[in-house]
Amino acid sequence: MRVDVVTIFPPMFEGVISQSILRIAREKGTLDVVLTDLREYTLDRHRTVDDRPFGGGPGMVMKAEPVVKAVRDLRAQAPEPPGRLLLMCPQGRVFDQAYAQELAREPRLILLCARYEGYDERIVELLKPERVSIGDYVLTGGELPAMVVLDAVTRLQPGVLGDDASAVSESFSPANEGLLEYPQYTRPAEFEGLKVPEILLSGDHAKIEAWRREQALERTRAQRPDLLEGTENQDA
Ligand code: SAM
Repeated sequence: MRVDVVTIFPPMFEGVISQSILRIAREKGTLDVVLTDLREYTLDRHRTVDDRPFGGGPGMVMKAEPVVKAVRDLRAQAPEPPGRLLLMCPQGRVFDQAYAQELAREPRLILLCARYEGYDERIVELLKPERVSIGDYVLTGGELPAMVVLDAVTRLQPGVLGDDASAVSESFSPANEGLLEYPQYTRPAEFEGLKVPEILLSGDHAKIEAWRREQALERTRAQRPDLLEGTENQDA
């Protein structure tokens, strides 16, 4: 998968892409991250990417020209596959595991990170990106949301986690019936008087599976009952 990121702060991504799963995915050649500095697409001496809003009001708005030029140039440089164009935006479709799985099947994503009060609306009219929100709160810029999307999508690429089963059994995954994951324990078997549930030490895999499913259901009922609505597990 190729992921292009258009931002005025490319260095923000360097730590994230050089560690852990993203580093491994890049080393394996599963993931190619191309960082584009939006200021490279400005024409003036000050490399201006923003201006005051028409109609007045607080803050600055990101200018249309550099963003439209950058996206067209990226597509011309690497026309295939054109991929999905995603604008990080608190007003967008809320990012969840199903959305991550949908995006993980794409061969290419182009992530647009806005700043200030956001993009000039004509960018949206011309380029028609999908708006992606990582939740109902406002961050300072689209870089952190883009990193969230990049991480969630990368760990779903085949072979990236090493043990693909770990992504499959995780919270929200279809293979886990959309439930939250069961509680996890590791050594020691007793810590500060708290013992690991006996069943996990039994070696009886069928019983462990049944226990884990019951725990997953219980946890989902307690923490996120909304996930059970309209499912077969609602009255379980
Ligand atoms: N004026 C905008 C509004 O009220 O909807 C908020 C702009 S925000 C300060 C600057 C940029 O950060 C946004 O344009 C977007 O790129 C990014 N951003 C902030 N919160 C976000 C969120 N929850 N999800 C995705 N992107 C977000």
